[in-house]
Amino acid sequence: MQIISKASSAAMASFTCSRGTSGLCVLPGTRQLCFRKGLLYGFMRLLSIPFKTLHLATSRSLRVAQFCSVSNMSSSLQIELVPCLRDNYAYLLHDVDTGTVGVVDPSEAVPVIDALSRKNRNLTYILNTHHHHDHTGGNMELKARYGAKVIGSAIDRDRIPGIDIVLNDGDKWMFAGHEVHVIETPGHTRGHISFYFPGSGAIFTGDTLFSLSCGKLFEGTPEQMFSSLQKIMSLPDDTSIYCGHEYTLSNSKFAMSIEPNNEALQSYATYVAQLRNKGSPTIPTTLKMEKSCNPFLRTSSLEIRQSLGIPDAANDSEALGVIRRAKDNF
Ligand SMILES: [Zn+2]
Repeated sequence: MQIISKASSAAMASFTCSRGTSGLCVLPGTRQLCFRKGLLYGFMRLLSIPFKTLHLATSRSLRVAQFCSVSNMSSSLQIELVPCLRDNYAYLLHDVDTGTVGVVDPSEAVPVIDALSRKNRNLTYILNTHHHHDHTGGNMELKARYGAKVIGSAIDRDRIPGIDIVLNDGDKWMFAGHEVHVIETPGHTRGHISFYFPGSGAIFTGDTLFSLSCGKLFEGTPEQMFSSLQKIMSLPDDTSIYCGHEYTLSNSKFAMSIEPNNEALQSYATYVAQLRNKGSPTIPTTLKMEKSCNPFLRTSSLEIRQSLGIPDAANDSEALGVIRRAKDNF
């Protein structure tokens, strides 16, 4: 099954919008995004015109060629969900301008190959958030078939199959002209990273932040997970969150059990149940929604603290630890 995500359609809408002549975007919910990207694109286009002319005249200038490819950034990134295994998601990233394709966390190769074949696309990059097999299981087959480069954390250089390019916290890597910020988000594993695409307002959080939950603490402490979640929470509220699993429905049951009077959570839980009844994904979610509903981002909620008997004196990391243990036993 192949599904074009909500953000993908938003990205495509903004792509069309930013190149339109009216400068207006008529699709609800995408206006702000389009406006921002339209401004950016307009600005970059103004800058790029003389450079493009120059580029045509002096095509050997690598610097100019790179700049020109950057000028079409952001609005041309499409994101496609690829369901894998029982409840994993891989994500195909497609840059419309260059045809460059990447995949985030391919648990297995076949669904990714099928999705690529349907559109006759190649694969250039494999991005891994962490080393677990249900995020890297497709690496070697995809690498062998397409010659794709595998990208992951330097901390996991010995654990990610086929790794070619290692990245560290704070690195800025370029995907076909789209800036990618590497954010270390340990807690689930010690080498876990998240990939943030600021131009598209999207972050791939692997098993760090799920909709209505966070990852289990296999190799980290509550303090580390809290710190990782704080980094993600510092991003703009309209950031789209693409996580590694479709766990939202079961997560909503735990969240409702400890904060039943949260009206935003009540509404979201109902919406999630409707989506899952139709077999639709609940991903991407938004940071704004998660701040309102996700108990792991709401460690200071009085209702949650009272439900779990967390003392007032407990700090947010300690509260997160209690919530995590309660969820593990739920
Ligand atoms: Zn994992």
